[in-house]
Amino acid sequence: MSLGKVSRERLALCPRPLIILIESVAADIDAGALAPLVRDTTVLCTFRGEAEQMAAFNARPQRSKKPWPESAHNSMPPRAVDFLPYPLEWAAWEASPAPLWLLQGYVRARARALGVRLKPAIRWDAPHYELAD
Ligand SMILES: [Zn+2]
Repeated sequence: MSLGKVSRERLALCPRPLIILIESVAADIDAGALAPLVRDTTVLCTFRGEAEQMAAFNARPQRSKKPWPESAHNSMPPRAVDFLPYPLEWAAWEASPAPLWLLQGYVRARARALGVRLKPAIRWDAPHYELAD
């Protein structure tokens, strides 16, 4: 089943349009919309505190290009969600990122249909969905 307890707790911090968007897509994934490439999903991050943000910024390779508190993940409510296929298969996606891009296209099409305005995709950060200002 898409979106476990921790994913739902993370998502609950977000503004309503992001919650509606992600829940809507997760329900479709549950119904097999992107099978077999994506069968389940997870919300990996919504809000990031200072220590977590700086760890992401200082990681090599960087997991965030912004230091605290400049990321959309650093405000409360958070203005971004990192939403990925589950289970996380980083090594497999490195070689074959199709599941990441497939899910991204689906999320972005759904956002458009729902009238949820997102910032443009970041090429190195496919799972990141950020509300436009
Ligand atoms: Zn992100």
